[in-house]
Amino acid sequence: MDSLIHAKEEIMSPKAVTGTAPMMNVIISQEHRKDEEQSVHDAPIVSSYNDKIRPLLDAVDKLRHLKIMQEGIQLPTIVVVGDQSSGKSSVLESLAGIILPRGEGICTRVPLIMQLQNNPNPDPKLFLVFNEKIVPTDEGKIADDISIATEEIAGKGKGISGNPLTLIVKKKGVPDLTMVDLPGITRVPVHGQPEDIYEQISEIIMEFITPEESIILNVLSASVDFSTCESIRMSQRVDKTGERTLAVVTKADKSPEGLLEKVTADDVKIGLGYVCVRNRIGDESYEKARAEEAKLFDNHPLLSRMNKSMVGIPVLAEKLVRIQATIIRRCLPEIVRKINDKLWANEEELNKLPKHLNSVAEAMMTFLLILGSAKESFRKILVQGEFDEYPDAQEMHCTARLREMIDKYSDELHSKNVVDKYSDELHSKNVVDNDSNRDFLLDEIKVLEETKSIGLPNFLPKAVFLTLLQRKVKGISTIPLDFVEKAWNYIEDKLICVLLRHCENYPQLISSIRRAAKNLIAKKKQQSIDWVNVVVEMENLTDYTCHPEYSTTWSKLMADQATLMDHVNNPYSSNVVCIERFGGINIAHLRRFKGLVEEAYDVKMRITAYWDIVLRRMVDNMALHLLFSIKNLVNQEMQQNIIEELVRPQGTGLERMLEESPSVTEKRNKLKKSIKLLKESKNVVANIMDISFED
Ligand code: GDP
Ligand code: MG
Repeated sequence: MDSLIHAKEEIMSPKAVTGTAPMMNVIISQEHRKDEEQSVHDAPIVSSYNDKIRPLLDAVDKLRHLKIMQEGIQLPTIVVVGDQSSGKSSVLESLAGIILPRGEGICTRVPLIMQLQNNPNPDPKLFLVFNEKIVPTDEGKIADDISIATEEIAGKGKGISGNPLTLIVKKKGVPDLTMVDLPGITRVPVHGQPEDIYEQISEIIMEFITPEESIILNVLSASVDFSTCESIRMSQRVDKTGERTLAVVTKADKSPEGLLEKVTADDVKIGLGYVCVRNRIGDESYEKARAEEAKLFDNHPLLSRMNKSMVGIPVLAEKLVRIQATIIRRCLPEIVRKINDKLWANEEELNKLPKHLNSVAEAMMTFLLILGSAKESFRKILVQGEFDEYPDAQEMHCTARLREMIDKYSDELHSKNVVDKYSDELHSKNVVDNDSNRDFLLDEIKVLEETKSIGLPNFLPKAVFLTLLQRKVKGISTIPLDFVEKAWNYIEDKLICVLLRHCENYPQLISSIRRAAKNLIAKKKQQSIDWVNVVVEMENLTDYTCHPEYSTTWSKLMADQATLMDHVNNPYSSNVVCIERFGGINIAHLRRFKGLVEEAYDVKMRITAYWDIVLRRMVDNMALHLLFSIKNLVNQEMQQNIIEELVRPQGTGLERMLEESPSVTEKRNKLKKSIKLLKESKNVVANIMDISFED
């Protein structure tokens, strides 16, 4: 008993209407059968209602009264929709046996929750519930009273409102049903209606029919083409397959032609089936209306051909009661679960709200606790790489993100110098890269020419090397600066994020804490910039490494020198030479500088071997510097700076913590109210849960 499909089968099955179809109108339950004779004055319907369902419906109605839907918990609801004047109110009238405001134009301007309750008492009792009021009324006054209540809710005139009005009808013989009648859909505002009336009404209707828990009772006039009905378009938007839509076709008496064909063709996909009815016309009594309806479907040449399981108000009542039982049974366990979940979450949240602080000492303690837990969070995300507090927030996984930043920094450094970029790929393919290889050794040769002096030829002046080194260092010097800028901006963001989370209950602290964090990061950033400048300057002015790799690489690179020289010196040999790391090099241009090529090559290979070391040093040192700075920040500086900011003479001071922020007070009150409501709701369902699963 857990799907609407099942509900549909149940409703469509012949047994659902056994014994009632051919009869005039009345579905009579065992206990009411003896009242049959007297029931002439009752409403025209007596439901064969499963007594077990009644308490469940009562519980759902009580939950509705408690306004549990405000907690985001949807209730199983039969929602009546239809275009304006399609006959919605008339159908409800027929089901309830009372007179509702009815007519052409817009009558229903607020959602009307109609609770029909079969009651043995021969005197019907009617109440209107709205704006926290319960107003008793009676069958004679009901139409007027609804109009008055509507005016109170939605104002005089033609405006509409989403605030519901509840009508309780306790009456002998009515089906136990709760339904919501909604304003009819109209495209064109009539005089006195707001321009956006269509949007307003659609919004209300969508709010009611969107939840999966709603059954859509689509009221269609027999006189129209169903596929052009706005109400059909709307229900198809939220219920594509139609599995929770039931159609009631009104005015069968007015447009009997082609009706059978229309409902049989089912062009608009109504999953729960059609029921064709004839409502009360003019001043007819209900009894008369039902008798006329029965006569119509029995005797009319076209309408009498319709299956009795799809005609008449009694059939509609029976179907609705069954559908309602099904959805309530299906939804209740989920509702109970949601109530419990919500209650638990709200209580948890209430407990987490800050206690009222009474003294500076208490404030101090709370403040230190906040700082302590914030520090712990930083340690986890910035140092340890533990992300249990932010499992899904990737940007808070700082150790991983910083690692990515360092890797990117390294890549950037390595790809900066075009010549250095010669990858193994180029090398192995032995290709000549026209643009970049055309200048091979030219820089070195130029520098050599400019540093020549009167001296022995085979001494390489130190200045050559340094000049070339300085050029390379200058080329990359902005990269580490950009990196520290980016890294600290990122850390600042995350730091403030964590701090705000920890002091969300004390908004009065936020500005001081944010200021402290910003100042501190600015200081750290400056320290890093100073450090980078020193590091770059050191690389710029001096050259040293103890790493043996320098010599190894250099020797390896030098192995190609002889080949290169052979090709340069021999004008008939190939113009392309393959050189370790640099790939295929076009050497034609070097033949002009024969005397300097050998030296230039040597210098270039020294720089190349040394540059590997420099770049590695820059990446390694940056990583160590960053880790070192972060650790200091987390372990002491953060805490110290925030405390200083708070206690300095112009600081916010801890006294401010003693005043509870209005937002916290409001939050606390809201939670308390919600918890009260959920507890009441829990009590309501607690009593009926044991029967709710029975069939
Ligand atoms: P609503 O705007 O959808 O609530 O429509 P109403 O219930 O107010 O009905 C609009 C008009 O259609 C009223 O004048 C009703 O009397 C009339 N009406 C509704 N149902 C039937 C029906 O089955 N047969 C006939 N002949 N008229 C109907
Ligand atoms: Mg109406």
